[in-house]
Amino acid sequence: MKSRFGLMLLGVVGYAGVLTAQAKPLAPRLKVFISIDMEGLAGVVTNADVSSNGQDYGHFRAIMAAEANAAIDGAFRAGATEVLVRDSHGSKENMLPNDVDPRARLLRGLSIGPKNMMEGIDSTYSAVVFVGYHAKAGTPDAILEHTSTGNVVDFSVNGISLPEGGYNSIVAGMYGVPVVFVAGDRAVVDQIRGMVGPIEGVAVKEEIGDASNGLSPKSAQEAIRKGVEAAVRNRAKYKPYKMAGPYTMVLKVKTERPLYPGAVRVAAGEVTFSSPDFFAILSAFNAMK
Ligand SMILES: [Zn+2]
Repeated sequence: MKSRFGLMLLGVVGYAGVLTAQAKPLAPRLKVFISIDMEGLAGVVTNADVSSNGQDYGHFRAIMAAEANAAIDGAFRAGATEVLVRDSHGSKENMLPNDVDPRARLLRGLSIGPKNMMEGIDSTYSAVVFVGYHAKAGTPDAILEHTSTGNVVDFSVNGISLPEGGYNSIVAGMYGVPVVFVAGDRAVVDQIRGMVGPIEGVAVKEEIGDASNGLSPKSAQEAIRKGVEAAVRNRAKYKPYKMAGPYTMVLKVKTERPLYPGAVRVAAGEVTFSSPDFFAILSAFNAMK
């Protein structure tokens, strides 16, 4: 009896061991990708605010880190297990690493290749969050509207005119990841929702005669924290934004750049380029923008 009881105990312990071993792969893993630009941050209204030689740049880079941290906190409150923040403005060296919530990883600096503001995204992520975003070139009633550079008049792919948040949504969609949240001025929130659907959004400011009428940074951060938390919790509601290939882009610029191999100049300041690969489209865009 004794030995049988011992065997039973061994069996129970063994079974529990199997349970533990099986539970590990089932542990929830929830990765959130945050791309943060500067023009759409609370209070930003001029290029000097987001340029390293601007007199208030230090103030706005602190606001950038605070909006990133609000989004990071919202993601963790919603159950995120990993968060990556991609500094997406200019040289990508705006957020000081020590200012970023230590629970997150920071992707900092220029990267080679077409992903750019989406560098680091892959199919292991469950949700994409845009913070500090701005509307595309030519958008009325928008603050600091532009598409990638001041030289771009319009960037369209398969007949759809794309803001930065548009082509970045397509990149996320290539990996099956939905964009669930956008913060920036009223114009970009409306523009991104118009493309990807009714995602969570926070308009931290509105344009009024080229000026900015906006929330205090603290209020904006609280709204971003709540919005990102709700968006990540409800991520199943949102679909990845997909654009079927093959792709033809039309790029209109103020000053023409040298033609990218395979690109065709169709008019003054207007080029086209086609490829079945969306990353090839982005490479051509980046070379000629
Ligand atoms: Zn920017």
